[in-house]
Amino acid sequence: MKYIGAHVSAAGGVANAPLNARAIDATAFALFTKNQRQWTAKPLSETAIRAFKENCRAAGYPPDRILPHDSYLINLGHPERLGLEKSRAAFIDEMRRCEQLGLMYLNFHPGSHLNKISATDCLARIAESINLALDATCGVTAVIENTAGQGTNLGHRFEHLAAIIDKVADKSRVGVCLDTCHTFSAGYDLVTREGYAETLARFDAEVGFAYLRGLHLNDGKKALGSRVDRHASLGEGALGLAVFRRIMADPRFDGIPLILETPDQSRWAEEIRLLKGMIGNG
Ligand SMILES: [Zn+2]
Ligand SMILES: [Zn+2]
Repeated sequence: MKYIGAHVSAAGGVANAPLNARAIDATAFALFTKNQRQWTAKPLSETAIRAFKENCRAAGYPPDRILPHDSYLINLGHPERLGLEKSRAAFIDEMRRCEQLGLMYLNFHPGSHLNKISATDCLARIAESINLALDATCGVTAVIENTAGQGTNLGHRFEHLAAIIDKVADKSRVGVCLDTCHTFSAGYDLVTREGYAETLARFDAEVGFAYLRGLHLNDGKKALGSRVDRHASLGEGALGLAVFRRIMADPRFDGIPLILETPDQSRWAEEIRLLKGMIGNG
């Protein structure tokens, strides 16, 4: 079973996210549980939590079809003490919000070394940040997203994801999310049939499908290996539609949220319809 949706708006309150997902006929969705451009947010009220759970139940979204995303400000591998402490506190707060909402996952970009520490040190810090967050919370899995490798962001190599997971104490609460645009921009081909097979075989060998908790479905404006993160609507970028047809026909992507983060929200309903039509037609 393929669960397909988009990163929908939670403007006006988290309870609106499942309604926005329902409106585009999504069978999965992603959301921010707070303003993603601010460090702090007021705690979720009991009323907001109840309304979110009720709307998810009514619209048919169990927790395994919901992939919340953390704030873009957080850097769990921050090279400096204050930045690291601030990031860790904000991340734990986001994990708690997910826990309160009855959610299972929190999706995040691993972190950046800012040219001040080595990649190895940065990856170790990220793992330690995850350990602290898992210790401080219950039931929520930390879902590391692979990146395009823009600037000093880590996580663009599968071995980075593996190095982080290796140092996480509770392997049952760590997972990964692959973003098609990021994977391609980072230099892993998905466009040719052979490239798709080889990239996913490498992912399986270096990280393992057992850790896969979600997928971000984005076309990308930039070339293979550009390391630039620019999403495009499906079929309008360098990836093209063939990769999405293969994904929809690939049972390794069953049972996890498959989330659009394409730039034109007005086309999400149409993109979801297109993807649903591809199931079994690869
Ligand atoms: Zn993404
Ligand atoms: Zn991106």
